[in-house]
Amino acid sequence: MLTCPRTESIATQFSIITPSPLQKIEAAWTRFFIGESRKKVEVWCKRDDLLHGVIAGNKWRKLAKPLQEFQLNRASHVLSFGGPYSNHLHALGYCCNQLNIKFTAVIRGAYLKDQAFNRTLQDLNNWNANLVFVDKITYQQKTDENYLATLRKKMSADVIIPEGGSQQDALFGMQAMLDEINMATSSRPFDAILLPVGSGASMAGVIENCSSKLAKHIIGIGVLQGEGYLEGLVNQFLNKDTPHLPWHINHQFHFGGYAKSTVELKTFCKEVNQQQAKQDIPICIEPVYSGKCFFALKTLIQQGYFAPNSKILIIHTGGLQGAR
Ligand SMILES: *Cc1c(COP(=O)(O)O)cnc(C)c1O
Repeated sequence: MLTCPRTESIATQFSIITPSPLQKIEAAWTRFFIGESRKKVEVWCKRDDLLHGVIAGNKWRKLAKPLQEFQLNRASHVLSFGGPYSNHLHALGYCCNQLNIKFTAVIRGAYLKDQAFNRTLQDLNNWNANLVFVDKITYQQKTDENYLATLRKKMSADVIIPEGGSQQDALFGMQAMLDEINMATSSRPFDAILLPVGSGASMAGVIENCSSKLAKHIIGIGVLQGEGYLEGLVNQFLNKDTPHLPWHINHQFHFGGYAKSTVELKTFCKEVNQQQAKQDIPICIEPVYSGKCFFALKTLIQQGYFAPNSKILIIHTGGLQGAR
């Protein structure tokens, strides 16, 4: 009943490991003080980073339905957009190669074509992706219908997937993720669900599909400077006629912008990853998405934002490939 049968076959084909684990995180920072008295919150992590060795994280969730459709419709040439470290292009490039579908990646940064490829671009190249580097101004047209029509014709692409895989179909896979959480927890609802927000489709998928039995509040952590903008991105995917749980985006933890970082954030990521190496904590994080989200969680707990004994769920959306 719960996982949607239409994406089960594609998930099997890619050996996606579902349900991804739901793990309790025991770390020093899950404890805090009110005056002299020691309190704690219960932190759970949905390990979507473990879904697959290459297509880890929310990019699988977002691509599951489109991939299934490529097969149904016998797509022959898929085109999409992203930056030079894009987790989305990396996941989609891998999948297209596996499915024997031609893939064109339109990459932001014309100068890159004369430089040595980073690991993400090397992988794409090895997977026979057609890499097209464009300058920032051209790249800004990535949602312009005329530009897309021209591109489709010029490249003879039959499917265009937006940047980040963020389209209405992406929400479908987030529903599958929530179904897994529903199956794994029967006790009291989560007081909050936290997840990083880039293009908003993942958060919209959680908002759209989360019931009050599962959670009370959804908190997005903006990974880029975009107060108002990010809320708009999330809203565009929500069904206006159905009620949703309360949600908001916290804009305190972007650390200067997308892929920007500080010594404090880098140190935090390093500490968590060292604890992981010592097996004190089960997770690894990187500074672009998961690091910002975990840093936010830690800080909010320390600030006493959550009531004692609150039950919090953080979604590990993956992304470790970009940090190589
Ligand atoms: C793309 C990405 C996100 C952001 O998801 P959106 O749906 O674009 O908001 C979060 N975490 C990781 C690891 C990602 O790769």
